Amino acid sequence: MIGVEEALSKVLAAARPKRPIRMPVADSLGLTLAEDITSDIDSPPHDKTLVDGYAVIADEVSGRDVELAVLEEVAAGAIPTIPVTRGTATRIMTGAPIPDGADAVVMIERTKLVEASADSPRVQISGGVVRSGQNIMTLGTSMRRGEVVLLAGTLIRPIEVGLFSEVGRAEIAVYPRPRVAVLATGNELVAPRDVPSAGQIRNSNGPMLGALVTSASAVAVDLGVGRDTQDELRGLIERGLREDVLVLSGGVSAGVLDLVPSVLAQLGVHEVFHKVNLKPGKPLWFGVLPSEDGDRLVFGLPGNPVSTLVCFELFVRPALDRLAGREVNLSRPLKARLTRDHQQRGDRPTYFPAAMSFVGHELVVQTVAWKGSADLRSLAEANCLAYFPPGDRLFAAGEVVNVHSFTRGFLLPPIR
Ligand code: AMP
Ligand code: MG
Repeated sequence: MIGVEEALSKVLAAARPKRPIRMPVADSLGLTLAEDITSDIDSPPHDKTLVDGYAVIADEVSGRDVELAVLEEVAAGAIPTIPVTRGTATRIMTGAPIPDGADAVVMIERTKLVEASADSPRVQISGGVVRSGQNIMTLGTSMRRGEVVLLAGTLIRPIEVGLFSEVGRAEIAVYPRPRVAVLATGNELVAPRDVPSAGQIRNSNGPMLGALVTSASAVAVDLGVGRDTQDELRGLIERGLREDVLVLSGGVSAGVLDLVPSVLAQLGVHEVFHKVNLKPGKPLWFGVLPSEDGDRLVFGLPGNPVSTLVCFELFVRPALDRLAGREVNLSRPLKARLTRDHQQRGDRPTYFPAAMSFVGHELVVQTVAWKGSADLRSLAEANCLAYFPPGDRLFAAGEVVNVHSFTRGFLLPPIR
């Protein structure tokens, strides 16, 4: 049985970024930029004031009480028409161009308008040092025309959406969202809206996987529930193999109705590995269907909901990151101090649902009262998984363990 790191490296070796496409900026949030973005402007486009105030000659007003004639008012969007000379100032609003002759702006709060007459207003400026350049952002300080402002490979956040717009881009090249078919398998499953009869349970994995796929900026294609028969599974799996990735839940363990691996093999999907030394999640199956328009990746996740979640985070999410041109997050886990004893049992590396929080500056964690990999309810109290190496041992309150936050995938490598 292979370990988590080896399994992940096999998954990543099979996952290649999709071919970039052009799309409207408005649709690109969460995707990865596939081209360098160049500015078509100088920003700011002129020397501009950063405050509302008076444009002045700095050495005339610095450290003195002065009264100046007000030449004109310039709002953002307007252009000054009169140069500032000694004895004069221009009333200027944030963002407006600095008039010729002026080299500083005194904030409005430090001035007093004297309405000697409506046609010849004057302003008093008292005390305070005024440096040349004060409150002015000079032309091109932020960016120059022709300068590269974002590199291919950048994750598109709201900030990037703003920056595309500033440099005149309404369309950009991105790696498209991977499309992921989700198929829950099992004779015992009924839809969430139905009331289970004897022996039945609701399909929680299908909706959870759909949400996990969405959370990874990919498109979930829900194939519903497949019964454990060769024929039904074959039809649904064939449909799923049209997408970039097929994620199945259930049917990959050692039961008599665990038919998924054999149906996948019949349909030409090559097994890359089956079973990983991991708890929960050991029965994980992974394979590839070679195809001219991009190899299909197939994940058979064990049906227990917590196993499904752990396997998605450890293996499917990194694969989706790679397909979407995102950097795969392989940073180290966080370290947290146990606030309660935890008895670890078993011979497999274990990811145990836990709740972490800060006490002062220290990250602390406690494992939740988890009843095993079918216990989704207890998982709802958790916000991370605590990692415990194989072997029976009591981890005492006060010991420091590795934790993997739910918020942005699991962080590998996990061990040591
Ligand atoms: P399997 O991997 O098919 O052997 O399923 C393992 C366990 O997970 C069984 O107890 C199933 O009833 C349960 N299970 C399988 N699929 C789902 C699902 N979609 N939602 C909730 N539980 C499931
Ligand atoms: Mg099953």
